[in-house]
Amino acid sequence: MDVKETAWLHLERVYDILLATYGEPPWRPDMDPLGGLIGTILSQHTSDINSGRAYRQLVEKFPTWEQVRDAPTYEVADAIRCGGLANVKAPRIQNALHTIGEWQEAKGGTKPLSVFLRDELLQQPYEDAWRYLQKIPGVGPKTAACVMLFNLGLPLMPVDTHLHRLTRRLGFIGPKVSANQAHLIFLKVLPPEWAHTFHVDLIQHGRTICHAQRPKCSSCPLYAECAHVGSVEPQDTILQA
Ligand code: SF4
Repeated sequence: MDVKETAWLHLERVYDILLATYGEPPWRPDMDPLGGLIGTILSQHTSDINSGRAYRQLVEKFPTWEQVRDAPTYEVADAIRCGGLANVKAPRIQNALHTIGEWQEAKGGTKPLSVFLRDELLQQPYEDAWRYLQKIPGVGPKTAACVMLFNLGLPLMPVDTHLHRLTRRLGFIGPKVSANQAHLIFLKVLPPEWAHTFHVDLIQHGRTICHAQRPKCSSCPLYAECAHVGSVEPQDTILQA
């Protein structure tokens, strides 16, 4: 993708300001994309504390993902009860595990499911790996990007509703660009080593200053770089309309 010089310079200035304001967060991928995926399913509609507890209870009761897949669904649901919506999440988890198992079977492989998934993802270009993950039932673009970034250390920046709002306000993407499309724009434009810091610092910025309702523009360090307040022109900053 060809990015105009003005848009690139704007992106660079925003990155530098975020870094100076919020710092560089630690990035320690655990190389366990399957664990990340199950953790994400468990985190739906509950707090981090509850989903973390449910995850720990699940892996204590079933030491391998194959055991989770093959157990009676009510036993999996019992193990994750403290995370809420157990009767919905247990079949969802087992469905995902069955799908990955079938992919491996089709290739005649015998690796543990977690190793199979990791190896499959690491041997593909980033965009293909992102799309591959989305073929697992219940996995959308954002979850797939989270697994790639946080579990595998691959530079695909997850774009949730907060990042979508912020990147539009700052003038990086046009009003018609969806969050799903934004994943690919940033994959092509961001230097790989920026993806994690950019994501984490923008989330932090959205939480503390650039709220959905009544953003605190008068105390915003990005005020001079924001299309929303008119300090930059969208035609100069847009990465893709
Ligand atoms: S100036 Fe306002 S709208 Fe723009 S990034 Fe800052 S808080 Fe958000």
